Amino acid sequence: MPAPLQTIASSQQLPDQADVVVIGGGIVGVWAAYSLAQRGVSVALVEKGQVGAEQSSRNWGWCRQQNRDARELPMATKSLDLWERFAAESGEDTGFTRCGLLYLSNDDQELAGWARWRDFARTVGVTTHMLSSAEAAERGQPTGRSWKGGVFSPSDGIADPARAAPAVARAIMTRGGTVHQGCAARGLETSGGRVSGVVTEQGTIRTKVVVLAGGAWASSFCHQVGVRFPLASIRSSILSVGPSPAGLPDALHTAAVSITRRGDGGHTLAISGRGRVDPTLQQIRFAPQFLPMFSRRWRSLLPGGLEGVRSGHETLRRWRLDRPTPMERVRVLDPTPDRGTIRLTHERATALLPGLKSAPITAAWGGYIDSTPDGVPAIGEVGSLPGLILAAGFSGHGFGIGPGAGHLIADLITDQAPIVDPKPYHPDRFAGFSAGKVADF
Ligand SMILES: Cc1cc2nc3c(=O)[nH]c(=O)nc-3n(C[C@H](O)[C@H](O)[C@H](O)COP(=O)(O)OP(=O)(O)OC[C@H]3O[C@@H](n4cnc5c(N)ncnc54)[C@H](O)[C@@H]3O)c2cc1C
Repeated sequence: MPAPLQTIASSQQLPDQADVVVIGGGIVGVWAAYSLAQRGVSVALVEKGQVGAEQSSRNWGWCRQQNRDARELPMATKSLDLWERFAAESGEDTGFTRCGLLYLSNDDQELAGWARWRDFARTVGVTTHMLSSAEAAERGQPTGRSWKGGVFSPSDGIADPARAAPAVARAIMTRGGTVHQGCAARGLETSGGRVSGVVTEQGTIRTKVVVLAGGAWASSFCHQVGVRFPLASIRSSILSVGPSPAGLPDALHTAAVSITRRGDGGHTLAISGRGRVDPTLQQIRFAPQFLPMFSRRWRSLLPGGLEGVRSGHETLRRWRLDRPTPMERVRVLDPTPDRGTIRLTHERATALLPGLKSAPITAAWGGYIDSTPDGVPAIGEVGSLPGLILAAGFSGHGFGIGPGAGHLIADLITDQAPIVDPKPYHPDRFAGFSAGKVADF
């Protein structure tokens, strides 16, 4: 069962020419196109399936600074402001609210890690509150348990994954940009060593700048144009229940299970970090670079099956531009949720919050998380192909930081002062074989 998602109508006509073409209508692509359209840049967004239908509607909806790696924290902070401003700016509703995020724990080591992060966050002006045992019990009252402690991050929040990307896509069109669904980009044309066009299944758009925001498909697309971009996708499984009884927290994380209020009045339930690795040739190719990441995270990762090979998003095959590509065969990457994980998640959630027992399961789905070797996204112009701006590898954090990423992409393209320092994101850090420092959280 796919994740719930609003549908939107596409623009009428694919343009022959645009200042910028954005490939991919996930949260990153739509925010980039919106930020460009806001500045009067002519922008066309092409999406092979439906806006928001892959990772961007399959996530929890957390927009958090809490526990962010130092490289991503500035972007997370700016993104929260952009989420907040968007409703007034566009008249659209993404379901964003600064409800605060609550973390509860009985593990001294985990609590010490959160305290260290609090101390670091303070140095960059981000406030988060460590909770004593009594405070944790009070905030976590619906669990009916005692806790050693916790943390509450009051300026963080959630948005609604079923509504957010479609809402931003509508705002692109209001500002003069175009959005084309069911329109896969098959490849790029180049002239004089730089991008000169995007070949789509509906025709070619002449452009000097293309933003590749293709999520889990970005590496195989890069492979077509000779750009090495190490990416591995992890299959995550998640479910929704609803309507949920009143009084449950909006957003609660524990080591066992996490829950998030949904825009439809239910809750999303998931186990943080848990996922299956479906081996593919692409993963074997990049395996050495992922060793540091996998050796840190192996406890929560399980071996998968052939699902990734079948869906083709990590193919090493070269495709032709005049024939249908794997992206046209699989319009929406809709991996099978892992039944064992869904069962376990539901058991843990109802044990943690007995109030959830009365809420029926409404859907369960899978999602491929596109991860880079260091867990930090690749955002910026690819050195070996001028005009190609890569914006992928959001490593499970891209929903919350989508607005900041989109803004940064537009800053780089329009030569304006960047909203955050772009250096930590530069895609050329992956051109060699080093893994980089794996993100802390
Ligand atoms: C279960 C789960 C929970 C998560 N929880 C959170 C969370 O709470 N907070 C958070 O910040 N992040 C979370 N994430 C991560 C977050 O969802 C992603 O990082 C983010 O949505 C990535 O956005 P994107 O636009 O890069 O990719 P996607 O949303 O995957 O979009 C990429 C789009 O590109 C399109 N595309 C690809 N190739 C082409 C092509 N050649 N032509 C045309 N279109 C193409 C695809 O069809 C797709 O729609 C979670 C992810 C999952 C799966």
